[in-house]
Amino acid sequence: VTTFGDLLRVPSASRGDLFAAKAKGADVRMVTSPLQALDFAAKHPDQQIVHLAIGFETTAPANAMLAYMARERGLANLSLLVSQFLVPPILRAICADPSAAPDAFLAAGHVCAITGSDPYDSLARDLNRPIAITGFEPADILLGVLDVLRLLERGQAGMTNAYARIVHPQGNPEALRIMDAVFETADREWRGLGVVPMSGLSLREAYAAHDAARTFPAPCFVVDQQPNENPECPAADVLLGKLQPCDCPHFQTRCTPDHPLGAPMVSPEGPCAAFYLHRRT
Ligand code: SF4
Repeated sequence: VTTFGDLLRVPSASRGDLFAAKAKGADVRMVTSPLQALDFAAKHPDQQIVHLAIGFETTAPANAMLAYMARERGLANLSLLVSQFLVPPILRAICADPSAAPDAFLAAGHVCAITGSDPYDSLARDLNRPIAITGFEPADILLGVLDVLRLLERGQAGMTNAYARIVHPQGNPEALRIMDAVFETADREWRGLGVVPMSGLSLREAYAAHDAARTFPAPCFVVDQQPNENPECPAADVLLGKLQPCDCPHFQTRCTPDHPLGAPMVSPEGPCAAFYLHRRT
């Protein structure tokens, strides 16, 4: 199995994490680019290599390129277990839940660098809420907050791009082209929201031979079913904005970035890890 590093530490309720599996002898290799899985597959034709293709629009182009290259090079021993998610459908789903719907959104700049800002323009109008595309530096985020506050004060719905040095209206055409060639939209299960229609990506039929969910026997991979999460972790409430990370009873006690109980404490981009790193109480 090949995977990005942050996935190694995502805990599950009963099966530990990939680090634990590796410690028990599983062949789990961290990659910094999905294309490294190509080299593993080419050098080890006697082994099945499964790449965990997980993430949002940010990781989708590189994972799409991996599937494309595997097919082009006829690497029958390389497949992807795809769990790609899309941001706009989940924003629509959140706004459809009156108990979760926020007044405005800050949209992640690295996602919008792929998709472009244009889709968020129509999305803001559809959702009747301000959306500010922001970068990740403190000044970028403050600029995004200022933009949505101005729109809220005027009672306007609309999109502002506070990260224009990176995010262009049309996004990254090459990335979008390879994504469209390899992936199609599919239903996905989200924490706290259940299955959201067409909120993710799966491999097109032409890439079925490289789809681990189809080529391996069903018990090998459990996908698109109820997530196997730690029941002590109220991650869904945090992700829906119903619970501040610091109000979770396990925050910075039993749950820290070194010993995460749930996925939001793993990556620095996760809300609980971000609170831990920048707003410890
Ligand atoms: S602090 Fe830990 S246990 Fe609490 S919601 Fe976040 S990840 Fe889950």
